[in-house]
Amino acid sequence: MKRDYYEILGVSKSATADELKKAYRKVAMQYHPDRNPGDKAAEEKFKEAAEAYEVLSDADKRAKYDRFGHQAFAPGQGGFGGGHASNMEDIFSQFGDIFGDDIFGSFFGGGGRRGGASGGGRPRGVRGSNLRVKLKLTFEEAARGVTKTIKVKKYVGCNTCGGSGAKDKGSVQTCSTCGGSGQVRKVTNTFLGQMQTVTTCPGCNGEGTTITAKCGNCKGEGRVYGEEMVTVDIPAGVQEGMQLSMSGKGNAGERGGAPGDLIILIEEEAHKELQRDGLNVAFELHITFPDAVFGTQVEVPTIDGRAKIKIPAGTQSGKIFRLKGKGFPDVNGYQKGDQLVHVNVWTPQNLTSEEKTVLEKLNSSPNFSPQPGKSEKSFFDRVKEVFS
Ligand SMILES: [Zn+2]
Ligand SMILES: [Zn+2]
Repeated sequence: MKRDYYEILGVSKSATADELKKAYRKVAMQYHPDRNPGDKAAEEKFKEAAEAYEVLSDADKRAKYDRFGHQAFAPGQGGFGGGHASNMEDIFSQFGDIFGDDIFGSFFGGGGRRGGASGGGRPRGVRGSNLRVKLKLTFEEAARGVTKTIKVKKYVGCNTCGGSGAKDKGSVQTCSTCGGSGQVRKVTNTFLGQMQTVTTCPGCNGEGTTITAKCGNCKGEGRVYGEEMVTVDIPAGVQEGMQLSMSGKGNAGERGGAPGDLIILIEEEAHKELQRDGLNVAFELHITFPDAVFGTQVEVPTIDGRAKIKIPAGTQSGKIFRLKGKGFPDVNGYQKGDQLVHVNVWTPQNLTSEEKTVLEKLNSSPNFSPQPGKSEKSFFDRVKEVFS
């Protein structure tokens, strides 16, 4: 069972971005691998906090998490949601900047750096952009959940150069501006004395290296436009407009930069006979006037197949029968909607003269004059739980 993200960071649900950042810094410092060498439990806590912060620091993801909980993020898709899929290097390259300027920075600036020879605390390359794709689902798929493999056209890492963008190993050179650190220090004189500021090296964009000869396949970008088959697990109960985020499945980054996310936008195919209303399903049932009088048994479509309904004798038009539990499941799995069957008694529009004569005769009978107070419940009482 995954822990609540707010609980992990020890903040309230209304925490501001600043409070989240502070809280994350505190937890990350406590469980930082440099302070807890070889401690697997601490490492897990460190990753857990990074995951919580990744979601909560992103307004879009936070809103989704608040609404749908952990379900908001497709499980087992290499991103957050299916456990701690993120590796330490990702955490450092993603959140390195949060540790940038205080004591904690020394953990990263010093021996604590991870990644390549030149250190992983700073970003490598340029992060790939997020990618949005639409995914159309039938009612049945949305109700039961489905695993889909979709072809996504996007930037993928260049195989020729392994994403580095360089022609060969020899054409990657240490940046001459920063000497490979990716940062430049600037000293300014102020009335308080000398102030030293550290900024990203403009010569290499903080990457520490420059490329002298570019890879011919990707023209130095480290990525090419292509496609990838992506398997998406859609949880049961999703609906139109919902978004599922798959971490790292978006566009590949430039020159080995982290990939963006793939955002799956759910679209619902219209159903021939059923309408969706949140968790509930509505069905318009049309019956003949004699069937309404004598009662009958009908079959109605549901998202689980056909279901039989008994229409009692004397059923009025406008009556609603509830098929309990035949609606959509809540995406969080806590409840299930119902199917509401609206009864419409069909009024014939083309009659033979013989039929007209019969009806005219019946129309003068007192049994045919409406007595709404006697037999019909008020509009608000119409929803009746008869079937289960
Ligand atoms: Zn290449
Ligand atoms: Zn540089």
